[in-house]
Amino acid sequence: MLLPLLMAIAESDVQSLSDAVDAARMRATVERLAAFPTRNTLSPGLTEAAEWVAAEFRRIPGVEVELMKYTLPKGRRVPEDKEVVQVVAVLPGRTSRRILVGGHLDSLNLEVEPVTGRAPGANDDASGVALTLEMARVLATKKWDNTFVFVAFSGEEQGLNGSRALATRAKTEGWALDAVLNNDTVGSSKNKAGQEDRERVRVFSEEYDPTPPSETRPAHNSRELARFIEFNVRGKVKAPTGKPFGVKLVFRRDRFGRGGDHTPFVEAGFDGVRFIEVHEEYTRQHSPDDLPEFMDWEYLAAVARTNLVSMVALGNAAPAPTDVTVVRDQSHHTTIRWKPAPGAQSVVYWRETTSPVWQGSFSVGEANEYVVKGINKDDHVFAVGSVGGIPAIAR
Ligand SMILES: [Zn+2]
Repeated sequence: MLLPLLMAIAESDVQSLSDAVDAARMRATVERLAAFPTRNTLSPGLTEAAEWVAAEFRRIPGVEVELMKYTLPKGRRVPEDKEVVQVVAVLPGRTSRRILVGGHLDSLNLEVEPVTGRAPGANDDASGVALTLEMARVLATKKWDNTFVFVAFSGEEQGLNGSRALATRAKTEGWALDAVLNNDTVGSSKNKAGQEDRERVRVFSEEYDPTPPSETRPAHNSRELARFIEFNVRGKVKAPTGKPFGVKLVFRRDRFGRGGDHTPFVEAGFDGVRFIEVHEEYTRQHSPDDLPEFMDWEYLAAVARTNLVSMVALGNAAPAPTDVTVVRDQSHHTTIRWKPAPGAQSVVYWRETTSPVWQGSFSVGEANEYVVKGINKDDHVFAVGSVGGIPAIAR
């Protein structure tokens, strides 16, 4: 059966949703979460904070909230097996295809006794949780084709345990999970070395495609999700400086010796990326100094808007096209062919083989073939996406 699909959302709607992202509301969330003495996953503070976050989600009309239980296994920073919770909230769409955004609720103090030491975790990662809550508040004001999942993970600091539990569940339950946007440490624009960047957020991604392309698993991966986010945000978000806000792509799983909650999803075969500020202050992480006073609320709002415009696009996107091919003729033009999802409008993208980012696109409507005039197939990479969706590379 054919599900009714919305046309791509109007530019003016994207703008008004983006304008609705509220820096003051996110600040209030960060300050509330940082006021818990600790949100260490092994402490009662984690459960209390999870209940507080769940209550905030419950105030949003249409959002279904679950306190998901799982077992934190004995291991690094965990003396014995312990049942813990994390928050999973869902805004159902017209289809069961899902887009997930999240941050980790737990905090850590590595300077003193780990369970009871003061760990405000304002930037790492109350910032990501505040952003996630804000996405739910803004997105719930409209109806969407696809289903949004909002997660406040726990067990991150003990080894990505909460995200692993949810990624395993997503795989077991056969979720059609199109994208995972992990926001971890996204609220500060400068460090103690005097480095500052209020106009970009880093998006880490890896090239990883463990399953062969098929009808249900299009030929894209986390890297293509990242490239799509970078291209889609252009011209849509303003930095606190008044200049355009953009994405700095980093073609890596994560930073050296560090991890994030997108990775268990990527390992389970989903596309996931990590958002993080450009200039981290390492001495404040996992310390009592990770405080709200070091945050840049307008910067956090710009990162939130970058997530929002990505989710708005993905939220109304039809499934990706399949069988996307470059016709192997000897011509000065390039012909691309594909099988669109039923009723889907498509976009053709191109870039030079050495360019990390898409350099141009053509909206081609309900076509299943397009001739890119004057762009040589040998020197370029092409892809086709449904409008708002992650493009699939033409092979
Ligand atoms: Zn973190």
